[in-house]
Amino acid sequence: MLLIFFSKNYKNIGKRIKKYDIICQEGSDSVAELKDVKGIGPKSLALLNKINIYTVEDLVTHYPFRYEILKRNDLQEVEDGEKIVIDGKVESIPILMRFKAGLNKMNFRLVTQSGVVGVSIFNRAFLKSQLTVGTGVTVIGKLDKKKNVITAADIKLETLSNKMKIEPVYHATSGLTNKNISTYINMALLMYGKEIPDYIPEEYMERYHFSNKKTSLNLIHNPSTEEKLKEVTIRLKYEELFAFMFKINYLKIENKKKKQGLERKIDKEKLEKFINDLPFELTNDQKTAVDEIVADLEAPHRMNRLLQGDVGSGKTIVSFLAMIANHLSGYQSALMAPTEILATQHYHNLENFLKNTDVKIALLTGSTAKKDKQKIYEELKDGTISMIVGTHALIQEEVQYHNLGLVITDEQHRFGVHQRANLQNKGKKPDVLYMSATPIPRTYALTIFGDMDVSTIKERPKGRQKITTVVKKNSEIKDVLEMMYKELKANHQVYVIAPLIEESENSDLTTVCKLKDQMKLAFKEHYKIDIVHGKMASAAKDMIMNQFSNNEIQILISTTVIEVGVDVPNATTMVIFDADRFGLSTLHQLRGRVGRGSSKSQCILISDSDAERLKIMEQVDDGFKISEEDFKLRGHGDLFGTKQSGDMSFKIASIKSDYKILLQAKKDSKEYLLNKETDNDPLKIKLIESITKG
Ligand code: ADP
Ligand code: MG
Repeated sequence: MLLIFFSKNYKNIGKRIKKYDIICQEGSDSVAELKDVKGIGPKSLALLNKINIYTVEDLVTHYPFRYEILKRNDLQEVEDGEKIVIDGKVESIPILMRFKAGLNKMNFRLVTQSGVVGVSIFNRAFLKSQLTVGTGVTVIGKLDKKKNVITAADIKLETLSNKMKIEPVYHATSGLTNKNISTYINMALLMYGKEIPDYIPEEYMERYHFSNKKTSLNLIHNPSTEEKLKEVTIRLKYEELFAFMFKINYLKIENKKKKQGLERKIDKEKLEKFINDLPFELTNDQKTAVDEIVADLEAPHRMNRLLQGDVGSGKTIVSFLAMIANHLSGYQSALMAPTEILATQHYHNLENFLKNTDVKIALLTGSTAKKDKQKIYEELKDGTISMIVGTHALIQEEVQYHNLGLVITDEQHRFGVHQRANLQNKGKKPDVLYMSATPIPRTYALTIFGDMDVSTIKERPKGRQKITTVVKKNSEIKDVLEMMYKELKANHQVYVIAPLIEESENSDLTTVCKLKDQMKLAFKEHYKIDIVHGKMASAAKDMIMNQFSNNEIQILISTTVIEVGVDVPNATTMVIFDADRFGLSTLHQLRGRVGRGSSKSQCILISDSDAERLKIMEQVDDGFKISEEDFKLRGHGDLFGTKQSGDMSFKIASIKSDYKILLQAKKDSKEYLLNKETDNDPLKIKLIESITKG
């Protein structure tokens, strides 16, 4: 209690206290804010936010994505034109030359152990005053053997103390250099290193002889040797996987406890009528999935089922039928989608599906108007609304249900563990159905979702034609435009995807805005062209998506926001610029936006590099195989979505390459969870709170 009191107060006292270490124990919540770190002003704060760093903990766990190993060279061992890293002393006063346009160049002589060499460096005039004769420096650059001159890329005002230096390289953003990030991290560690929570319980720290968190963080950001680096890397990976597996284990155990589910009878004849009224016949896999779900709903145990099927395999209709079955037994259903576009689309489809019924449905997203929200909350609570579709707005605290009987999450890997837990907790013992189009390779899935039942849709709906995929170079853009034109002339629609929205300083990637201009130039007034992206207000997004659905827009240019779920059968062509920037699973999802009607569809990948990987797309159209390939090539990253959205994108660990550590962490975390003696551990309480509170 006292500790908490101190910690809270400390926030106000801020930087003045220097002995904060004493009052903050390991595992206590980090109280310092990012702006308290010396050197971080409003400008750098904004830049750090841009790369998803919001807290001191985020900052110090912004791990290097690789290391530059600087080994010192002798002048003799380096070939002409090769990179050199060499220590020495400045032997002559640097001569500075200034050119027009702010360009300058400095020359001096350097004495090294292997001889004297000339050094020249551009645009470092500011270093002149420090480069006095006799100063020890490390020069990094390219050696010209004939002239005996190093053209330096960098000069460090320190000589390497060891034979080698390992320099961290961080993901940065424009305006924020590697050096800035490194400086902020080290300052944060110096000021608040002891406050950073550690998620490994003491007994495991001892068992594996791990270094404490602060030391480990210090070493991962400033490795002294490769061995040390390896050691702390394993420790930090273990920690991350331990916390993750703890949560998974906890959810599994809780689920088992709640096994006692809703037992109800479902009127099969009425359900059958819905199925018969569909404009198409269900595939056998769909029928089986519906049967499995209905059996689960009726059974006394609680359903915990994953419905997986490739893009376009028709999972949505299965989920609607599950909701109808649930409704027929008198309960409310909730369908949660990861994006507003998708939630809105599901809502309209559901509306259409239920048009001849009096089932009351509603849509709830972050942008639902306040007074509408209030009404929805009321009607959910009193049971007027039978089915609700929405984004994570569905799991906000204000939302209470009358009798939630079924919870469905679409594209479940995009939701965090605690979000899933939250939705489950909304009803008393609602049945839960997860849907995913990004299959997780079996071994990994078994580890992570070991307690789930799985329904798989392999078969595609009848009449679908194979989507043709081709890889094109940027120089072949004319062909691409012609291919687009052919489809447009046949009254079909086209998606065009770019990796970025707007131009950015340090990237020459294709942008949505630029493409819009180019497409307008190419297609003039003949076709309506518009854009949609994640930064647009959601009303604007909806409007554009609706217009595209109604064929009022023929060419839709977008980022990957349309990656999941969007369903416009008349769109037959998908063009993806800078395709090498995307993982295969993302490309497959994007490709899945076409080929949804009966017309032949095509996917055109434009890229000048990475041809071999992209060729896989030309040959393979099975999402399960693609996800295996992706897994081999990129690890889990792409499978589980981006950092912000999934809980399975780790900062340092990888499910694939650290699978052994994962298995150990799984075992240990389960043992820890089940050990009653540690039930009062602040760490355990904290881990559990992080799941249940979200
Ligand atoms: P996904 O599995 O990617 O979520 P959807 O549920 O969006 O796929 O289905 C893709 C399209 O296929 C939709 O337009 C849907 O109406 C249609 N569809 C679903 N099942 C069938 C079927 N059995 N026969 C024909 N079309 C179907
Ligand atoms: Mg879907």
